[in-house]
Amino acid sequence: MRPARATIDLEALRHNYRHARALGGGKALAVVKADAYGHGAVDCARALEGEADGFGVACIEEALELREAGIRAPILLLEGFFEADELALIEQHALWTVVASPWQVDALERHPMARPLQAWVKLDTGMHRLGLPPDEYSRAWQRLRALPWIGDMVAMSHFSRADELSHAGTPQQLASFETALAGLPAGTVASIANSAALMAWPRTRRDWVRPGLMLYGSHMLDAPREEADALRAVMTLESKVISVRDLAAGEPIGYAGTFTTTRATRVGVVAAGYADGYPQYATSGTPVVIDGRPGELIGRVSMDMLTVDLTDHPEAGIGSSVELWGPRLPVAEVAARSGNSPYRLLTGLKRVPRRCIGAAPA
Ligand SMILES: *Cc1c(COP(=O)(O)O)cnc(C)c1O
Repeated sequence: MRPARATIDLEALRHNYRHARALGGGKALAVVKADAYGHGAVDCARALEGEADGFGVACIEEALELREAGIRAPILLLEGFFEADELALIEQHALWTVVASPWQVDALERHPMARPLQAWVKLDTGMHRLGLPPDEYSRAWQRLRALPWIGDMVAMSHFSRADELSHAGTPQQLASFETALAGLPAGTVASIANSAALMAWPRTRRDWVRPGLMLYGSHMLDAPREEADALRAVMTLESKVISVRDLAAGEPIGYAGTFTTTRATRVGVVAAGYADGYPQYATSGTPVVIDGRPGELIGRVSMDMLTVDLTDHPEAGIGSSVELWGPRLPVAEVAARSGNSPYRLLTGLKRVPRRCIGAAPA
């Protein structure tokens, strides 16, 4: 069998969730959109159920997958609904929804519900993607508040650059959020922090935080923060050496000859490639871990294979294990070597079998 595989450590996931929740000091919505950033939404939600205050997903399809798997905790549609006829399902499955556009307010006014719907009303504080502009916000809030079938309401917004620790954008967005909150009833429940804000910008922690990436043990903060040091990698992507070649100096390796040996080199071929989600353009020198020791990628990554330098790993050979990212090698470090982000690499996992460890005792 092909040795490439991804191992998902659910104990590490629970550890990261608890860390996020404790930092936030209130409730924490575990963001499990995009199949839990490639980790398996059902497995991750089951591992957190009973502990997570709620889950965040991108769309109703993702919410229904969790409900069908028996997840009973609150589930928030982070982009709201895309069509008004999703409201019947939202009601039936007791989902929570974001409201970010006036047409969604219109749709809710036209759709009476038998049980109260929790609405998170999104303000655009500067990201300029989803969210109501500040001058339309309180009007939309009041229209929703007037509907008997709208239950609890949460004021929310989202940061665009909270991972840049000395950028003024985050305090500016926070100020815009606070201005809007000042126009709402005292005690309005609020939520703005994603993982980066939660870890690096303590003043953004409100009633609810919405950690995503950090649950999976990664971050993109551009300066050290001890809040990030406590995270544990959840996914390990690894495979094995399936072939070894001894090359003289001056020999090219792989497609396009992007790497030429500069010394007598022992090359290990590893069964993992870009069709598994490993970045095709990771550069020679990208770190790998060979039998537990630091090593390097050399040559262009192929669809199904990649090559590593075994010259300084004389004890390694066919069958040696190669960690491509995981507890010993942060996925963000690998991502940075190919102009990628950990978000992209984790959500891009493909083809390799995924196996969970650390499930809670039943
Ligand atoms: C994806 C998402 C999050 C989580 O973001 P991370 O950077 O992964 O922590 C939080 N809030 C909203 C609205 C999102 O779409």
